[in-house]
Amino acid sequence: MGVPSVFLRTFGCNFKCQGFGMPRGELSNEAENIDPSKYTEYKSLPLVSTGCDSYASWDPRFKHLSPLLDTGAIADAIVDTLPHKEWKDEHLVITGGEPLLGWQKQYPDLLDHPKMDKLKEITFETNGTMRLTKDFKEYLKNWKWKHEGFIDREITFSVSAKLPVSGEPWKDAIKPTVVAEYQDYGYVYLKFVITNEQDLADAERAVEEYQAAGFEGPVYLMPVGGVESVYSLNNRKVAELAMKKGWRYSDRLQVPLFKNEWGT
Ligand code: SF4
Repeated sequence: MGVPSVFLRTFGCNFKCQGFGMPRGELSNEAENIDPSKYTEYKSLPLVSTGCDSYASWDPRFKHLSPLLDTGAIADAIVDTLPHKEWKDEHLVITGGEPLLGWQKQYPDLLDHPKMDKLKEITFETNGTMRLTKDFKEYLKNWKWKHEGFIDREITFSVSAKLPVSGEPWKDAIKPTVVAEYQDYGYVYLKFVITNEQDLADAERAVEEYQAAGFEGPVYLMPVGGVESVYSLNNRKVAELAMKKGWRYSDRLQVPLFKNEWGT
């Protein structure tokens, strides 16, 4: 948090997470009620307070808003987003949707592009259900060493595991051996979105399962809410629960700072 970062958002997800912000067992249809034909650009889309807050990054009805770019154009767009138009301390966060779907086969091309030479830190923001492919594992093992003088390069897997509050079934969403294996390729932490005590109990059960599979990293709790009115309802409570458990608290800095505007 607070580290200048460029976000590359890939299209597609294996989940829908329509349960966020809803009474348990109910699914949100807030995004389904948005008429895609009214929008020609991402930043005019309405924010939602229930369901997945990045619905337009996987719902096929909004695919026309996501351009299909080749590697060179993506590298150009990333570098153009940097405040100094060159890498300094910025991280590249690859998110989605779910960034570890079929896109894994495209990342080596992108990360080997000359414009990415000075990049030192990549984070994959994943739901932790997709295994790394053999080829991508090979690539990640070597990425750190690809450029002389860059031995401090780092890869992080920020695993936002989906508890039942998301509306996704446990057996599909909690994949302990998949997450444990990420540790062979980078630094891994777990992050859970918490609304109430039931979510905390679910997180405790999930952490036990991840640890039994060999996961050793830290655990973060995060308040629910992509919009300020929802987020501020439980952020303090979630911080207190995290302290009680000896876990960490993750804020949603973009909410109080930027009110979750598109592009922040
Ligand atoms: S896993 Fe993430 S991107 Fe996919 S539907 Fe759930 S919240 Fe949205």
